[in-house]
Amino acid sequence: MSLRFNAIQNLSTNAADKTDGSSKITAIFGSNVFNLKTAREFLSDEAYKSLIASIKASQKIDRAMANQIANGIRAWAESKGVTHFTHWFQPLTGTTAEKHDSFFTLKSDGTAIEQFDGDALIQQEPDASSFPSGGLRATFEARGYTAWDPSSPAFIMDIGTGKTLCIPTIFVSYTGESLDYKAPLLKALEALNKAAVDVCNYFDKNVSKVTATLGWEQEYFVIDERLFNARPDLVMTGRTVYGHSSAKNQQLEDHYFGSIPERVYAYMRDYESESYKLGIPLRTRHNEVAPAQFECAPIFEEVSVAVDHNALLMDVMDRVARRHNLRVLLHEKPFAGINGSGKHNNWSMATDTGVNLLAPGKTPKTNLMFLTFFVNTIKAVHDYADVLRASIASAPNDHRLGANEAPPAIISVFIGQYLSKVLNDVKTRVTEKMDETDESLLKIDIHKTIPELLLDNTDRNRTSPFAFTGNKFEFRAVGSSANCSNAMTVLNVIVAETLKQFRKDVDALIEKGEKKEIAIMHIIRQYIVDSEKVLFEGDGYSEAWAKEAEKRGLPNVKTTPLALDAMVTEKAKHLFESNHIYTHSELEARHEIELEKYIKKVQIESRIMGELATSHVLPAAIRYQNMLANNIKGLKESGLKESAYSNQKQILEQISEHINKTSDQVEKMIEARKQCNNLTDTRAKAIAYQSQVKDTFFDEIRYHVDKLELLVDDREWYLPKYREMLFLR
Ligand code: ADP
Ligand code: MG
Repeated sequence: MSLRFNAIQNLSTNAADKTDGSSKITAIFGSNVFNLKTAREFLSDEAYKSLIASIKASQKIDRAMANQIANGIRAWAESKGVTHFTHWFQPLTGTTAEKHDSFFTLKSDGTAIEQFDGDALIQQEPDASSFPSGGLRATFEARGYTAWDPSSPAFIMDIGTGKTLCIPTIFVSYTGESLDYKAPLLKALEALNKAAVDVCNYFDKNVSKVTATLGWEQEYFVIDERLFNARPDLVMTGRTVYGHSSAKNQQLEDHYFGSIPERVYAYMRDYESESYKLGIPLRTRHNEVAPAQFECAPIFEEVSVAVDHNALLMDVMDRVARRHNLRVLLHEKPFAGINGSGKHNNWSMATDTGVNLLAPGKTPKTNLMFLTFFVNTIKAVHDYADVLRASIASAPNDHRLGANEAPPAIISVFIGQYLSKVLNDVKTRVTEKMDETDESLLKIDIHKTIPELLLDNTDRNRTSPFAFTGNKFEFRAVGSSANCSNAMTVLNVIVAETLKQFRKDVDALIEKGEKKEIAIMHIIRQYIVDSEKVLFEGDGYSEAWAKEAEKRGLPNVKTTPLALDAMVTEKAKHLFESNHIYTHSELEARHEIELEKYIKKVQIESRIMGELATSHVLPAAIRYQNMLANNIKGLKESGLKESAYSNQKQILEQISEHINKTSDQVEKMIEARKQCNNLTDTRAKAIAYQSQVKDTFFDEIRYHVDKLELLVDDREWYLPKYREMLFLR
C-alpha cells in the first residue's frame, strides 16, 4: 500500500489528546525561566544587583560576578533536573541553534563534578563554521563565538530529549562582526532609544528610556504527520510544489468562523502550556481563513524579548506537533490556491514613564507628542520603504506579497479616516506666520476625534502592509516563517534615523527664535507634506493601486533578488553605518547571505519538482496510459465502432500530452539550472534562478502535473491530495 493510503487509513489512530490541560496558566507561567523573581531567590544581593544593572543599563558584568550568576543559574536549573546547557542563538539560517554541553566535567585529578562557571555563561565557541557568514569569517577570522545576552533571561527547554538550560546569546565573529539576527537588533533598539528619548524630552524631561514593543501574530497550518511524510515536497521545502486544488477550498469561509477541530485543539493547548512555562504570554488562538490554517498571538512585550519568544515558539510548536502525530507548517505558502501565512508585527514605542508614544493623548500637549511620533513613523516608512521591503524579502514570502491575499510588495501606510483628516488639518492650518496665540494650533482638535478611533474597529484596512490600528502600527508583510528580527531591526533604525533628523530640524527652528511647540508643528507639517504619497486608504490588492502607486513613484519590487538591492544602496549604507548597526562589510555580507538563501531555496524546490515528476507522477501516469491504450486496443480488436472508444482515446491523448510536456519541461528546467550554476556573481545567479528557473518552469510543470492528478486513476496516485491534507484530521 502506498504511503498515501496508509496515511489515510491510519488517520484516526493518530489522534490522541496527550495534554494535561488542567493547570491554571498562572501556576505554570514562567516556571522554566530564570526571571527576576528566580534570580532574587538564587543569587546573592551583589550578584542580583549586578544582573539588574546589566539588564536595565547595559552595564558590563565582571568575571567574579559572572561566576556567581552562573552558579545561581546552575543551582536553579539543577533543582529542576537539568543536566546540560546550551548557548541558544539565532543564526542567519532563520531557525534557532544550540550546541549542548553537560555541567558534568572532570577535575585534573579525575574527580567528577558538575560545573558551570562565568566563562561558560558569558562566552562559548560553538564549532559553527558552517553557519552562513557571507564570507565574513573567511575575511576576518575563521570562527565565531556566542556571547551571553543578559537582557534576555535563561530558560529550560524540556520537550523531547531531556531538559536543557538555554542561555540566550548573540553570535559574532572574533573581530566583532555580527553573524546572527539578534546583535543588530539590539543595536537598532539602542539607536531608537537614544533618538526617541531626545525627542520625548521636548515634551517631558522625565523620560529617560524608550523601548520599542512588539506583539506578533503567528499564522500556521497543521496537517497529519503521515500525510506530511507522504509528501516529499513538504518534507524538503515546507510547501507543496504540486497538488490540484480541491473541489472545496476556502470559498465558504466556514473554517474561519468554525470551531477549532478537536485534534488541533489538543495540540494548541499542549504547545500553549509549554509556551507558558517558557514565559511566552500567548493570549489568543483561532482558525484562520484557509482550511487547516490557524493563528496565535501573545500579549506584546519589549521587542528583543518578543523576538526571542517568537523564535522559541516556532521551535516549541514544531516539537509539540510531533507528539500529536501532527506537523506544523510555518511556510508562507504551503498550498497554492488558498491563503498563505503571515506574521503581523504590531509595533509601538513606550517610555519609562509609562506612556505609549503611539497612543493618542487626552490633552493638546500629549497629543502633540503622539502626533510627533506618529508622523515620524510615517516619514520613516516613506523615506525607507525600499529598505523595509528588503527586510521581509525571502523566497517563500515572494509567493505571498502581491498575490491578492496578502499585503502587496508596495509599501504604503494606512491610517484611517480620522487621522487622515487630522494630518490634512495640520497641513492646511499650520502656516508660516503661526505663533502660539494663533488659534489654528488649538483647532487641530485631535484630542476630541482620536479617542473615537480607538473604539472604531471597523476602520481597518486588511489590505495594507503597514497599518495604524489605534495605538500601534501593524507591519503585516512579514512572512510567517521569518525571524522578526530583520523587520524589527530595520523598522526601529529607520524610525531612529528619522527622529534624529526631526530633533535637528526642530532645534534649528528654535535657534532661529521660534517657540518650541510652534517649531514642532512646522516640522510636523513639513514631514506630512514630504511623505504623504506613502499614505493609502484604498484596496491594496487592487490592480488600480499598483497603477496609482507607480504614478506616485512608490517602489513595487516583486521578487527577492531585486528587492534585496535596497540593502546595499548608498542610502542604506549610510543609514546602517551612522546608527552603528552594520558596517559596510557586514551589510555586503548580509546581502550576499540573503541572495544565497534565495538561490538555495529555489534550487531545492526545483530539484524536488524534477524528482517528484519523474519518480512519483510519471510512473503513475504512464501505468494508467498503458491501461487506457490496452483498453482501446482491445475494444478495437473486438470489432467495435470507433465511437465506442473515442472518449477513451481523448483521455489517452490528454494524458499523453501532459506526460510529454511534464517530462520535456523537467529536462529543460534541469538544463536551465546548469546554466544558472555557471554564473559566478551571486546577484546575477539569484536573478537567473528567479527568472530562468522559477518563473519559466514552476507554474508550467505544475500545470501539467496537476492536470495528470485529475486524470490518473486515484488508486495509482502516490501524493496525498489537497483535500486529504486540508480536510482530513
Ligand atoms: P487584532 O485585532 O489585530 O488581533 P489586538 O489589539 O488584539 O488586535 O492586538 C494584536 C497584537 O497587537 C497583540 O499581540 C497585542 O499584544 C499587540 N499589541 C497591542 N498593543 C501593542 C503595543 N502598544 N505595542 C506592540 N504591540 C501591541
Ligand atoms: Mg492584527
